[in-house]
Amino acid sequence: MVSELINTNQLSKADPVFGQLSFDNHEQVVFCNDKDTGLKAIIGIHNTVLGPALGGTRMWQYANEWEALNDVLRLSRGMTFKSAITGLNLGGGKAVIIGDAKTQKTPELMKRFGEFVHSLSGRYITAEDVGMETADMDLVREVTPYVTGISEDKGGAGNPSPITAYGVFMGMKAAAKYKFGTDVLEDKTVIVQGIGHVGESLVEHLTNDGAKVIIDDINEARLAAISKKYGASIYKGSNVYAEDVDIYAPCALGATINDNTINSIRAKVIAGAANNQLADEIKHGRILQEKGIVYAPDFLINAGGIINVYAELENYGKQEIMRKTENIYNTTLEILNNAETNDVTTHQAALDIALGRIEARKKENQQ
Ligand code: NAD
Repeated sequence: MVSELINTNQLSKADPVFGQLSFDNHEQVVFCNDKDTGLKAIIGIHNTVLGPALGGTRMWQYANEWEALNDVLRLSRGMTFKSAITGLNLGGGKAVIIGDAKTQKTPELMKRFGEFVHSLSGRYITAEDVGMETADMDLVREVTPYVTGISEDKGGAGNPSPITAYGVFMGMKAAAKYKFGTDVLEDKTVIVQGIGHVGESLVEHLTNDGAKVIIDDINEARLAAISKKYGASIYKGSNVYAEDVDIYAPCALGATINDNTINSIRAKVIAGAANNQLADEIKHGRILQEKGIVYAPDFLINAGGIINVYAELENYGKQEIMRKTENIYNTTLEILNNAETNDVTTHQAALDIALGRIEARKKENQQ
């Protein structure tokens, strides 16, 4: 067994790394420090059975180093399952750089980070995440080939967000088919929480499909602009989770399904782009199951971005990217049906398939 679900109630800080909150038999955790550029980064390599560990770099001003470590552990683990379930020959990894991307990110710091990535000889391949731009990956590319998400004019696959949004839309349609008997979202009410790069593109798909879209964001200017552009209504209430909608699409932050929100949720389907939506995979997954709320596993339906960067490594084009992303519909339906048949949460059903693929490859590799 490569992994088990993480129950955050059982987590402890007693042991610095291997006993850490989100430690899940990660293969390697690399702490990177450079005095001259001020770089403090952690690279997490969760599992490389299926291939090199690919996952983005996040630059964030963490409250403390524990928070940064747990973020990289959780995110890298998620990447293992995302790639496994999507059928990609990639393992799971992620990196975090501790600091403010607006004020502390310099070309020197990015290149130094790239040198640390290079020192791992391809066991970890980086890409963009929160706080990173294509231009940053171009800088990393100057010192290592182990980077994706570079500019199109340098051979990259371009902005992954529209592809991620398309995959989320496919997963949402499959969940609607399962719950409502139709995947046409016309007249379904969908609340999109977070209308950033992915959220906006999702709003576009939804409005084209005839859904009634409500948008929620902390950025007022963006709300006004997106509302005007797509005719979406702006959420004005005080508890977004209690809104009487058909579908809730978390596209802002992780862990929005937690002890404080879960009993308010009135949506019948949850399908969105955010990573690690369930604060506690076991507990909150089970409560959703008991309430009859269909949860489309995040790591499955938000895989469009990784499909897009994988194209850079495997040299396939847009058509294959779209085909693989569209297949998220079939995989989601299969998982929702499996969960019902086996009386497990949808998250567990997705994890079982991902783990099965990793275990099978491990056996092959040992032969
Ligand atoms: P983004 O930063 O462009 O957008 C996030 C949006 O959420 C912003 O508009 C922000 O104002 C809003 N927001 C922040 N806090 C909020 C809150 N409390 N309530 C409502 N809105 C809030 O990010 P993105 O690239 O669109 O990604 C969205 C999510 O999807 C992230 O969790 C990201 O990790 C995940 N994801 C993104 C991709 C991708 O290809 N971009 C791929 C996989 C997963």
